[in-house]
Amino acid sequence: MRCPFCGHIEDKVVDSRESREGDSIRRRRECLSCARRFTSYERVEELPLVIIKKDGRREPFDRQKLMKGLLLACQKRPVSLARLEELVTDVQARLMERPDREIRSRELGEWVMDELKGLDQVAYVRFASVYRDFKDLPDFVKALEGLMHKEAAAGRPGASEPPRPQAQALFPGEAAEPPAPKPRRK
Ligand SMILES: [Zn+2]
Repeated sequence: MRCPFCGHIEDKVVDSRESREGDSIRRRRECLSCARRFTSYERVEELPLVIIKKDGRREPFDRQKLMKGLLLACQKRPVSLARLEELVTDVQARLMERPDREIRSRELGEWVMDELKGLDQVAYVRFASVYRDFKDLPDFVKALEGLMHKEAAAGRPGASEPPRPQAQALFPGEAAEPPAPKPRRK
């Protein structure tokens, strides 16, 4: 690195330590020409991940927002927080692999639904019902029917209405702040 004092480009690192948050590395360097010391910081390149919303607006991917939507969908369900964190991390990693680092909110929703499907059917249906146009409608209906058998025993025989939680703010600006969906059991 170019010495800020004399402009020489050779130096040696005399100390190197990670920041407490682990997001950067600070190095003390000593110029090989003038022997003066200076500091450099190294950090992971942070390019934003971008969500393209229905109206075409772009917003940065917000991990916390997605987590919040998942927590609502999984309320009172036997899904651990750690498992949800893992799910979000997987989705985020997949998004990072896309060359443009952008995704339509609907497509992201589908990724999440795919993951939820194998995790908890109720959470899956709650999450899925937020989306109006389902890509895999047959799967969705099947999931609903399965739920109906297990859960609609609570005094609504032959219930044909899918459980409809209030619209949830799954992604930035997607919907207004919701009340939490009512758990279906007890
Ligand atoms: Zn120097």
